[in-house]
Amino acid sequence: MSEQKSHIMPTYNRADLRFVRGEGAWLETETGEKYLDFGSGVAVNTLGHAHPKLVAALGAQSEKLWHVSNLYQIPEQEKLADMLCANSFADLVFFGNSGAEAAEGMIKVMRKYHAENAAPERVTLISFKGAFHGRTLAALAAAGNPDYLEGFGPAPQGFVQCQELDVEAVEAMIDETTAGILIEPVQGEGGVRDVGTAFLRALRELCDKHGILLGFDEVQCGIGRTGKLFAHEYAAVEPDVMAIAKGIGGGFPLGAVLTTETVGRVLQPGTHGSTYGGNPLACAVGAAVLDEVLSDGFLDRVQQTATYFRQHLARLLDENSDIFEDLRGSGLMVGLKCKPANSDVVAALRDEKVLTIGAGENVLRIVPPLNVTQAEVDIAVAAIETACTKLRGSTA
Ligand SMILES: *Cc1c(COP(=O)(O)O)cnc(C)c1O
Repeated sequence: MSEQKSHIMPTYNRADLRFVRGEGAWLETETGEKYLDFGSGVAVNTLGHAHPKLVAALGAQSEKLWHVSNLYQIPEQEKLADMLCANSFADLVFFGNSGAEAAEGMIKVMRKYHAENAAPERVTLISFKGAFHGRTLAALAAAGNPDYLEGFGPAPQGFVQCQELDVEAVEAMIDETTAGILIEPVQGEGGVRDVGTAFLRALRELCDKHGILLGFDEVQCGIGRTGKLFAHEYAAVEPDVMAIAKGIGGGFPLGAVLTTETVGRVLQPGTHGSTYGGNPLACAVGAAVLDEVLSDGFLDRVQQTATYFRQHLARLLDENSDIFEDLRGSGLMVGLKCKPANSDVVAALRDEKVLTIGAGENVLRIVPPLNVTQAEVDIAVAAIETACTKLRGSTA
């Protein structure tokens, strides 16, 4: 559009769209065009845009108190931590502002646990091919994608990646320096890959057998995205540590590390911190998001909508086998592995006014707000059909 020089660092390839307002699953541009948002700001807008409960929670808190720092008690933080612990394996919560900060905190607490338990040599974390834990140096080292580390100097040590989702391969990597295992129950950036309940259960057994910790990164798959509050609930296993972010703030920057009592209490005063982490504004919104996601019938509806959407997508996969080759993920965390470049599919859908996101392994990632309606799903399905026809036309 305009040739004016941008003062934003060029870290992102941005579509030429400027949104000025949103409501529910819909976004509106400055010229009044409406787009169906099935990307949710990368799986963040749990309840869509401008949800009345969240607007009210933020508005009310903004008139009372924004920020005081963690030098004081923060009742809103206590309340959100109570809610998270009442509905998960966790006993203790540390609040930060993003997924990377949560992943970083998870890594630190897993190492510190062993240091405090007479095993300071246990520092190595095992993660998996296709993992993504954020863009801080340690999170990048954990995921081990060399493209993302290139040019940023020496990578932090003490991270190894298992190349396959195979228990024997993981066990072969465990030695006296291992602190624990880090895994996304459903990989997001890596290609919307559900690692499976059997694998999560096997990892739990492995960790118990070797006296190491199990850390789940549910930054993307947590907070109802899969139809359970946390994706690992499908496997009926519990981690020792878990990172969450994205969905918990519903659009307000918020992340957290959840731990059991024995793990979390190793972070005594002075060992870790975050100036903004868990401030009143963020926690008031987080509590409102969680209150809605935990309300009667909400997660059942997510599962129903997901089943409905996936039935249609399975049909589309069948009918468009020249465009799609696999339907993946869990609940409303949907992946369609593409034959043409996924960026072309994202662009074709954008032309149909439906927003989606790319992911690794040439996957189209579809992560609508969790309160999306069946009628909105129908619109997205029709748009995918049209996009397939047009893509076919352009390659024929
Ligand atoms: C997005 C993501 C992160 C990083 O979150 P940021 O808020 O971008 O720092 C970490 N882990 C997973 C699984 C993610 O999807």
